[in-house]
Amino acid sequence: MSKRDYYEVLGVDKSATQDELKKAYRGLARKYHPDVNKEDPNAADKFKEINEAYEVLSDDTKRANYDRFGHEDPTQGAGAGGFGGFQGQDFGGINDIFDMFFGGSGGRNRGPQRGADLEYAMTIEFKDAAFGIKQEIEIPRTETCETCHGNGAKPGTKVETCSTCKGSGMQEFYTNTPFGRMVNRRTCPSCKGTGKKIVTPCTDCKGAGTVRKRRKIEVNIPPGVDTGTRMRISGAGEAGEKGAPSGDLYIVVRVKTHDFFKRDGNDVYCEVPITFVQAALGDEITVPTLYGRESLRVPEGTQTGTLFHFKSKGMPKLGNGVSKGDQHVRVIVQTPSKLNDRQKELFRELSREFGEEAHEQSKSFFERVKSSLLGE
Ligand SMILES: [Zn+2]
Ligand SMILES: [Zn+2]
Repeated sequence: MSKRDYYEVLGVDKSATQDELKKAYRGLARKYHPDVNKEDPNAADKFKEINEAYEVLSDDTKRANYDRFGHEDPTQGAGAGGFGGFQGQDFGGINDIFDMFFGGSGGRNRGPQRGADLEYAMTIEFKDAAFGIKQEIEIPRTETCETCHGNGAKPGTKVETCSTCKGSGMQEFYTNTPFGRMVNRRTCPSCKGTGKKIVTPCTDCKGAGTVRKRRKIEVNIPPGVDTGTRMRISGAGEAGEKGAPSGDLYIVVRVKTHDFFKRDGNDVYCEVPITFVQAALGDEITVPTLYGRESLRVPEGTQTGTLFHFKSKGMPKLGNGVSKGDQHVRVIVQTPSKLNDRQKELFRELSREFGEEAHEQSKSFFERVKSSLLGE
């Protein structure tokens, strides 16, 4: 069956204003709502068609797309609409319609609410940020009751239509005012708007349809995460109302600092002490990296604070899996302390050996500082 034009479905002009659309829609929705129109076998289909048309035309963006592309709107996938809540007899409940008629929350299509998102703060070790880790976490959350599958009734027992509201989920009051008879509506207190009466509540959830649980979830932290990385686990949040989708779970990562390695983006820095003699004469030293020991050639005459680099020995780039940052090694020359008499004597001898050369170097340095700072 080919789809009818949405304007035709609602019986309005292509230039109809939002108010005209709303008015036409309300009239038709009232007329064809399956809960009030049980004798017409086509009412359900008709009602679905009306809702779909209104859902598209009441949204300016969707309406513009519809005007341009008709039912072949490329932004809507196969066929426009997506009014999933109104399939067959499974309506979102008359509440939704009343909400639209009488202001309610002001929103359209207020079906069962999607579950809330949850956030979990997770602290991991520095090395786990580099290599990734599978960690089991336990989160308290609301889940759909497994015993009753969320409908709140003890399995095998009957669910009746609420006698207070006759299944509408709403209660009406009439008040006489100087301006005439006013009608007010509120959510039915007996069934809390569900329109149903549970004869025997499910013993596990006491009729709520949901239960609080501490759920264990295995979280896969990929290599390369950093403090502040947010990961979404789709559908692992709180259960939705009456079969609506669950919310998502967000893992917010904090990476512990490391005693030896410091991180800057994907690059890793560390400081390695070398002796006075190694700095002066040069040496081959061993440096730890995230991926094991590496040997580093310290050249003769190395000054303290000199940086050496190991390509691709830093943190992996998140979501990349192959490329990595670099590791930078800063060598710190340790000035010897607690020298014994013989060592002191050797240093004095060394100093004499340096003689004029060392003295001149030191003197010219002070001369330069004096002229630049003191203007002498
Ligand atoms: Zn239950
Ligand atoms: Zn009720």
